Amino acid sequence: MHKDIATPIRTKEIMKKYGFSFKKSLGQNFLIDPNILRNITDYAGLTKKTAVIEIGPGIGALTEHLARTSGKVLAFEIDQRLLPILADTLSPYNNVTIVNEDVLKSDVQSMIEKELGGYEEIMVVANLPYYVTTPIILKLLTEGLPIKGICVMLQKEVGDRIAAKPGTKEYGSLSIAIQYYTQAETVMIVPKTVFMPQPNVDSAVIRLTKRAEPAARVDDEEFFFKVTRSSFAQRRKTILNNLTSQLPDGKQKKDEITASLERAGVDPGRRGETLSIQEFAHLSNELLPHFQ
Ligand code: SAM
Repeated sequence: MHKDIATPIRTKEIMKKYGFSFKKSLGQNFLIDPNILRNITDYAGLTKKTAVIEIGPGIGALTEHLARTSGKVLAFEIDQRLLPILADTLSPYNNVTIVNEDVLKSDVQSMIEKELGGYEEIMVVANLPYYVTTPIILKLLTEGLPIKGICVMLQKEVGDRIAAKPGTKEYGSLSIAIQYYTQAETVMIVPKTVFMPQPNVDSAVIRLTKRAEPAARVDDEEFFFKVTRSSFAQRRKTILNNLTSQLPDGKQKKDEITASLERAGVDPGRRGETLSIQEFAHLSNELLPHFQ
């Protein structure tokens, strides 16, 4: 077994050797605690039969743990300065491919076909760059990629919103967007001290397990997500008031919206945060014919 990259001493050594300086704008907070990395790979449930997609390998702290515990790692790293460093730190592993691309712009599906063919089980495992956490997770879920799940470190506050249940103050359109596709759970709360440099916020690891079918039957997904976002536009307003002010021509269509709410069994005086995903699905299916 090689010496772990994720220790304060080794991280400092590597940075000094390459004259590397952190870019805050790229969310570069590197992990320096091997115990946390072992926990992440355990929660991800990796075996040599699993292929892993990593976003943002940094200097390879998590990547090497993924290389040890999975069959193959495909890692997307936006910062070109890290490529020679990764070539060095990951030289003991022959099952890692680094792609120098912005994951948000990358054709991930093609990269999976090219690099991970033959693997039936694909997990996304990462310590995400915090400035783009949500767009990355939503991209991975909405592009219909053949992944089993996602196990990632992110800001605790975002993790709380993703895993929130109806009736809580964290529950909103993000909870619904993610839980529509997955079962979401927070598996670990992580202190700031395990990062270099330390971020300003607390972190958490969440695990998202893709559902075989979405959580509810929805006639038009785009419209469903529009209805959920509209319902939370102003959290203190009733669902009827939010929908009339947010949906196109909503004010003129107040009667149709009221009738749709009633047909869906939703009291127009309720607030969005009290509706389950299934209730939102029912409601958006009722509203859809009035907004086509
Ligand atoms: N995995 C390393 C670790 O845990 O120590 C580094 C994690 S650091 C929080 C996030 C990494 O994502 C950085 O290496 C950063 O350069 C990279 N990154 C930022 N934006 C990215 C993007 N859009 N696509 C791919 N990588 C990105």
